Amino acid sequence: MGKYLLDRVVVGLLSTNCYFLVCEETKKGAIIDPGAYPSQIWGKVEELGFDVTVVINTHGHGDHTDENKYIVERSGATLMIHEDDKSMLVVGMTDVVDNGKNHKILHDGDIIEVGNLRLQVIHTPGHTPGGICLKCENLLFTGDTLFYLSVGRSDMPGGDYKALMKSIHDKIMPLDDDLIVLPGHGPHSELGYEKNHNPYLRR
Ligand SMILES: [Zn+2]
Ligand SMILES: [Zn+2]
Repeated sequence: MGKYLLDRVVVGLLSTNCYFLVCEETKKGAIIDPGAYPSQIWGKVEELGFDVTVVINTHGHGDHTDENKYIVERSGATLMIHEDDKSMLVVGMTDVVDNGKNHKILHDGDIIEVGNLRLQVIHTPGHTPGGICLKCENLLFTGDTLFYLSVGRSDMPGGDYKALMKSIHDKIMPLDDDLIVLPGHGPHSELGYEKNHNPYLRR
């Protein structure tokens, strides 16, 4: 098991969880969803003392992506987002993607290497067409797909309730019960607990 350091800053008006996942052996790390408060995010990078090699968006909503540009330009990291949400990067980042600077378009099953850590991309459309969850060791970053005792909205543009339920039942339910669920908003949870108590997941 790769040794990792996990931390979080809650950012913006919608209290988005911006996560920091750092490989302890190499001090290389990922920032997941830098949605607001760039100076607080950068303060955490300095506090943890790591090299930001990737910035990953769980999906294309602004509350998860608005400070991509600041973080990518300051760190030189590679920006990653699923193909089906790439077009949503209207704030700050389309120029980076369109100008062919450091970015990588993600697909289901991709493995993202962060130092010695490996994050598996799980495409979970429904909240948005290109929403993803990320699995690494005993962690499951769920973006706005799965929350503590709830799921993401599917009534915004690009949302699809049936697709969201299919993603959860086909892609999330088969995963290990002991995974720690790290959602895009609100408190963390455990997948086994969600399978038993979340009304949208009940087995
Ligand atoms: Zn969202
Ligand atoms: Zn959100």
